[in-house]
Amino acid sequence: MATAFSTRAIHAGQEHDPTSGAIIPPIYQTSTYGQHEVGGSPAYCYSRTGNPSRDALERNIAALEDAVYALCFSSGMSAINNVLNLLRAGDHVIACNDLYGGAYRIFTKLYAKLGIEFTFVDATDAANITAAIRPNTRIVWLETPSNPLLRITDIRAGAAVARRAGALCVVDNTFATPYLQNPLQLGADIVVHSTTKYLNGHSDVLGGAVVTNSDELYEDLRFYQNTVGAVPGPQDCFLIQRGIKTLELRMKRHCDSARRIAKTLTSHPSVERVYFPGLADHPQHAIAADQMNDFGGIVSFDLRGGLDAVKKFAAASGIWTLAESLGGVCSLWCHPPTMTHAAVEPEVRRKNGLGDGLIRLSVGLEDVDDLLTDLVKALDAATSVDTKKSAEEVLV
Ligand SMILES: *Cc1c(COP(=O)(O)O)cnc(C)c1O
Repeated sequence: MATAFSTRAIHAGQEHDPTSGAIIPPIYQTSTYGQHEVGGSPAYCYSRTGNPSRDALERNIAALEDAVYALCFSSGMSAINNVLNLLRAGDHVIACNDLYGGAYRIFTKLYAKLGIEFTFVDATDAANITAAIRPNTRIVWLETPSNPLLRITDIRAGAAVARRAGALCVVDNTFATPYLQNPLQLGADIVVHSTTKYLNGHSDVLGGAVVTNSDELYEDLRFYQNTVGAVPGPQDCFLIQRGIKTLELRMKRHCDSARRIAKTLTSHPSVERVYFPGLADHPQHAIAADQMNDFGGIVSFDLRGGLDAVKKFAAASGIWTLAESLGGVCSLWCHPPTMTHAAVEPEVRRKNGLGDGLIRLSVGLEDVDDLLTDLVKALDAATSVDTKKSAEEVLV
């Protein structure tokens, strides 16, 4: 189906219900299916193995990535776990050193225990990946834009290094979404998503997805999906599907607002440094412009004054809610060192450039002028000398 993104988002995998003609596929809220004959091969036998609501979402997400296969999971972490199930003791994984805290945790606290080795490198320079390759390297794991510092890895270069080494290149495409970037087209073998974020987009469900074009990988990953059983329920599939229909519209707005917010931050005296790939002085701006359609809806920055300033910022943050997660309609902010990246040891965190004053914004879909007004108020309060007074002023 050679149609444009928004058309695929709305129609791929979404055949009208054959019995009623309902234009929205029903939610098949069932665990099992009546079978017509003994020893037959029914299309569906048990919902861990297959469910029409999940199938519809899997076909849809595959189409969004212009891919052949997608598998859906109960969370982004279970999608990541599904890919790691490909590994066996003695295998080696190279991962970028700025990545989702939960991914770092499952690598170092769970799979390392099972005899799998991990090396973390600054993947923004492909030479660092090449230098870390060993004979037993099985996966090169990339996240771009990365969380929370929005570093950009050249996917083509990373995938080429992996291919030469006979390893798989896996890209966590959660921040970019398939609307902004399609890693399989750039040479990656597997894409993972936390559909909890932009794909669902409404902060009301957890989900994950794994996408590939390889028949062989799909067979293995599908076997692990059924064997482990971390599958999403039909209602959750429906909600994610419903969110995807407006993904393009939402992403355009997220990107436009984030661009304005990033620009404003660069000139605010409370801000030491802004991390946003859309800024011309971002170190990998050119790669981002080349491999992405736009720069995304996440902006991070270092607040002057460290944790104390972050606490003052919190007291004055207005419509910006202090919360984990990202990619929904509501604007959220978080403090990665104490929240999303609390699982990363303090010394590793600092070494990787996550300072104590780091704030990550997930720019939502509210009016951008309202967002800017509250943000500037909170920034003013963050470095004001009289905390109490400025917080009160903001509250009235
Ligand atoms: C949130 C997130 C995950 C984990 O997804 P969950 O749905 O929370 O399990 C993985 N990778 C990235 C980049 C994320 O932002």
